[in-house]
Amino acid sequence: MKAAVVNKFKGPLVIKDIPLPQVKPRDILVKIHACGVCHTDLHACHGDWPVKPKMPLVPGHEGVGEIVEVGSEIQHLKVGDRVGVPWLYSACGHCDYCLEGQETLCLDQHNAGYSVDGGYAEFCLANGDYAIKIPDNISYVDAAPLFCAGVTTYKALKVTDVKPGQWVAIVGVGGLGHLAIQYAVAMGMNVIAVDTGAEKLSLAKELGATHCIDFMKEKPSQAIHNLVNGVHGVVCTAVSKPAFEEAYRAIRRGGACVLVGLPPEDMPIPIFDTVLNGIKVIGSIVGTRKDLQECLQFAAEGKVKAITEVKQLDDINDIFDDMIKGEINGRIVMEIA
Ligand code: NAD
Ligand code: ZN
Ligand code: ZN
Repeated sequence: MKAAVVNKFKGPLVIKDIPLPQVKPRDILVKIHACGVCHTDLHACHGDWPVKPKMPLVPGHEGVGEIVEVGSEIQHLKVGDRVGVPWLYSACGHCDYCLEGQETLCLDQHNAGYSVDGGYAEFCLANGDYAIKIPDNISYVDAAPLFCAGVTTYKALKVTDVKPGQWVAIVGVGGLGHLAIQYAVAMGMNVIAVDTGAEKLSLAKELGATHCIDFMKEKPSQAIHNLVNGVHGVVCTAVSKPAFEEAYRAIRRGGACVLVGLPPEDMPIPIFDTVLNGIKVIGSIVGTRKDLQECLQFAAEGKVKAITEVKQLDDINDIFDDMIKGEINGRIVMEIA
């Protein structure tokens, strides 16, 4: 099968033929129709984080397609079903975290396109218990970004605990952020978006942000305090340390700063202000299978829709270049089948 493979950190992805994976009893084989390109894939190929991916690696955790083979122990899925293969490729299913509905914290998990091969290929193996079905009325291209960007931001917004009618700031209007705005609006929140450039900010406006702030032109935390006396919550998706500092400073007393973007640096947090202002600083990692089903349902009901540009597997190195330059509006989805 054809796949995009990275052989060493910071090396280019190479399109080549690799063997079709073998289906074990609890696996399914998915013929990939489309796969979104997440900034995490770039971090993986660059080896940015303390925990390193397997090498060589087929990246991709927004792969969606149709099942072509079902392992002998999987009863609830059948050939022809439309599914996605998310970041949470598998978890142990029996630890405290898995049992408490926090399976994304399982210490014995695998991640698609990181610890196992992912969706930048014609076929992808998935764990039958963790692949999630796509509602009939969502196309493959529209569904792909929901399997990471969608579920991650939907979950992060839930974690902010911002109520309908309150203010949330979305810092970073990229693949994740443009969906975060839509989920926040659908959840009844008032949105302030922060990024740079007319294209991203006008997209944010179209998607329902009430205020849009260009971080190159003004200091976002100050602007947000001037506009609404600080936000009740913020979801920071930017790949930038200064963005996290601004996100933290934008919160009103008692609010929550939810960290989602993964720049490899540390974030300095002032103890005094955090204590006196009762600020919550919370990490949020993707979402559970249940979060994913809920996030897909919003799309099935027409409440959110990813802004996508369709490209091919062969374009992947150019897509990464554009991502590094911050020149992508919405999500790039590679059409594979
Ligand atoms: P992206 O490249 O599409 O978007 C990042 C956006 O941040 C860009 O629009 C960029 O202009 C903007 N930005 C850069 N500096 C900024 C600043 N100072 N202030 C405001 N915005 C700024 O990336 P993406 O695919 O949306 O992923 C974003 C990050 O989230 C990555 O680090 C990725 O690894 C991480 N991520 C985390 C999770 C999770 O579960 N926590 C899931 C998926 C992705
Ligand atoms: Zn577990
Ligand atoms: Zn992702």
